[in-house]
Amino acid sequence: MDKTNSVELDFDQIPESDIQFDCPHCNKHLSIDPRGAGLVIVCPDCEKHVSVPIPEGLEIEDIDATPEELSFRLRTSKATIAKLQQQILSLQQQVEELQQFKDEAIAQVEAVTAQQKTLKSNLVHITKLGKQLEEAITEINSKFSEQND
Ligand SMILES: [Zn+2]
Repeated sequence: MDKTNSVELDFDQIPESDIQFDCPHCNKHLSIDPRGAGLVIVCPDCEKHVSVPIPEGLEIEDIDATPEELSFRLRTSKATIAKLQQQILSLQQQVEELQQFKDEAIAQVEAVTAQQKTLKSNLVHITKLGKQLEEAITEINSKFSEQND
């Protein structure tokens, strides 16, 4: 196969050795020459940049490529790694924020539970006071009616 065509997409003929994957942006099924592994290509459907996955067990060194291709690969990989590192940092930040959110939510639930306990014991206390008051009133009423007899 001509090396200059190694990254071209060929939809008429899909050899079994080609890398098959779906575009992460538009889900278009893509088939790439194995030498395209690790490269960033432009999706023919949505025209967004897509990284071609490197098949399991396949090393970049195994791919037959000219020094120019390897140099391009290296630069592309470095850019991809930098982008991924940024994404990892952003994800780590999100995880930290979620952790903080979770901690706050737990603290709030604990505070509400403590308040409920206080309210419950207050209610028990008030109910007791109410009974005592009722008894006192009954006693006063009966004494009052005795005096009037
Ligand atoms: Zn696409």
